[in-house]
Amino acid sequence: MTPRRTVVTTSWDDGHRLDTALADLLARYDVPGTFYIAPRNVELRPADRLPAAGIRDLAARGGVEIGGHTLSHLRLPLIDDTSAREQVALGKIELENIIGAPVVSFCYPRGEYRAVHVRQVAQAGFRLARTVRRSSLATGPVMEMATTVNAYAHRVDVPLVLRLAGGRPARAAQLYRHWDELAIRWFDLCLERGGVYHLWGHSWEVDARGDWARLERVLAYISGRPDVRYVTNGTLAEAGAA
Ligand SMILES: [Zn+2]
Repeated sequence: MTPRRTVVTTSWDDGHRLDTALADLLARYDVPGTFYIAPRNVELRPADRLPAAGIRDLAARGGVEIGGHTLSHLRLPLIDDTSAREQVALGKIELENIIGAPVVSFCYPRGEYRAVHVRQVAQAGFRLARTVRRSSLATGPVMEMATTVNAYAHRVDVPLVLRLAGGRPARAAQLYRHWDELAIRWFDLCLERGGVYHLWGHSWEVDARGDWARLERVLAYISGRPDVRYVTNGTLAEAGAA
């Protein structure tokens, strides 16, 4: 029996200067990454933003895609529709001016959006958009793509963890406490069932929580597998990726 195909993709939000270190780590394991960058992110101190030269450096690397994340990382549902349209479109234009190439993937800041924003993202010329929904091995709608696991110690719902742990309480406790264990369990499940394994996070969050070793452990585990296809998010928009 031919095993069902597994696709691995990763994405990293916000455009923090530590994205460079994250891209170095991905390169070490040959895992592609899409970096969703808000070039004037108001939630980051200006000194912490990845400068234009850093964005260009990332874009020039193999296996790296630059994606839109609005211009300033404002919460779309909290601003009027005209401002939202500008945020989506201007973020794309600014990134394209910096890297000199089209930007086709988008990520909603904080995963917050309404139906009007989905339309605006498509009208701006993006081909796919990622949300912050987790626990999925299918991308779902291309303009509202779900993910599998976040590189961050979220409180995961207990029934899901129990299911993933095959009912073993000690294993469930481990999954509940450590996102890297959860990320590895999801990968095993994806290998078994086929599907799209989407790991995402924030370089600044990995750093703030001292999680570089956990992230490296996950990357080492999920990389270099035969029969697994490793792609950027943008490739998922192309027919047949999933
Ligand atoms: Zn963000």
